[in-house]
Amino acid sequence: MSRTRPTTPRPRSGFEELHALQRERVGTVLRRAANAPFYRDRFRLERGGTMPAGLADVPVTTKADLRAAYPFGMLAVPRRRIATYHESGADSGPATSSFCTEDDWVDIGERFNRMPVGIGAADTLLVRVPYAMVLAGHIGHYGARAKGATVIPADSRSFATPYARVVRLLRDLDVTLTWSNPTEPLIWAAAARAAGLDPRTDFPRLRALLVCGEPLSEARRRRLGELWDVSVIEDYGATEVGPLASACRSGRRHFYADRVVPEVLDPATGEITPDGTGDLVITPLYREAMPLLRYNLEDHVHLSHEPCACGSRLPVIRLAGRAKQAFAVAGRRVSQVQLEELVFRLPAAYGVLFWRARAGADRIATEVEVDSAHAGAACAELARAVRTHLGVDCEVAPVPPGTLMPGEVLSAPGDVLMPRSLFGPDEDWSRGLLC
Ligand SMILES: [Zn+2]
Repeated sequence: MSRTRPTTPRPRSGFEELHALQRERVGTVLRRAANAPFYRDRFRLERGGTMPAGLADVPVTTKADLRAAYPFGMLAVPRRRIATYHESGADSGPATSSFCTEDDWVDIGERFNRMPVGIGAADTLLVRVPYAMVLAGHIGHYGARAKGATVIPADSRSFATPYARVVRLLRDLDVTLTWSNPTEPLIWAAAARAAGLDPRTDFPRLRALLVCGEPLSEARRRRLGELWDVSVIEDYGATEVGPLASACRSGRRHFYADRVVPEVLDPATGEITPDGTGDLVITPLYREAMPLLRYNLEDHVHLSHEPCACGSRLPVIRLAGRAKQAFAVAGRRVSQVQLEELVFRLPAAYGVLFWRARAGADRIATEVEVDSAHAGAACAELARAVRTHLGVDCEVAPVPPGTLMPGEVLSAPGDVLMPRSLFGPDEDWSRGLLC
């Protein structure tokens, strides 16, 4: 079994060197894939078939293929070599399995640490993404620990770490970096204010918000940076493979093509090209436990091999979002991220952090949380901006602060569930064994 560890790329290697590296690795990738029942069957290896000569001969692997291969069909190593098991797919049907060996974690952690923030031993990273069952929480945890940083495994969607506790941890533990979706720091800002703190001045050690897992408009990214007076760095990845790209200092997003081969599928023709516009199809070059060949992430992207002022020779990727996040309104497609861009272009002084909208057949109905002093201006400006930039009518209604993000959510105390059978005479035992 080959256990070649990933190598760190020479930062200024040209596209030719990159493609030579990819070609060199593909033989190993194909051989590893042939150990998985799914690919053995696909290549008909037990019925006289032959291995593909290169990636060009390999058909696309789909999310449906992964679901059908549950639980062990994609596994390419003996089970004793699996370090961790993950699942995703709750939002789009049955579970898909994902496996990692220890060496897979080295590769994933190194990709996490490529975000241009220089994680080191002096850092304290608060992980505020789920640890169950997806990769995301573990990615930040493993990557930061590999660099010697302190990790606070705060998790999300956990009774143990409500927002008030997150704010306390951010402040009392001198947290320097956070890893979360980009909605979390908006909520922390509201929770900090509810606790009488100013996000800009009462968290002086915080230096960057690392965010993932949610479409993020440029205006919201900017607003997050202003709210906390820190930089905001967005990681692009996939739950099946981990980090895939991050933005450079020139504001372009570079795809980690020295670790994962990106290609673009034209959904209309089925043609696959090295760059262009279409569905992103990926082939990880160092994956051991679960090799994926030309796996279609179903993310609509534009990929190009163009030089960048930052000096990176990794290709540039632009994300166009997923079709399911847009709705037809008055004959136009309107996406959440387009609306969000306009909401967060409202002046910061209006204090708008939370909003929601419903797409109707001919108009959009929007609610924004805003205090009465700014309600009139905020609603009029947002309605006008939607009309101007998206070409559809928009009703905007103000709702009082606390409507979309209730105050009790921001200030609720922690709640750790511990099994218990013996209670004192005056204790509440209504939750039985889980108190
Ligand atoms: Zn760049």
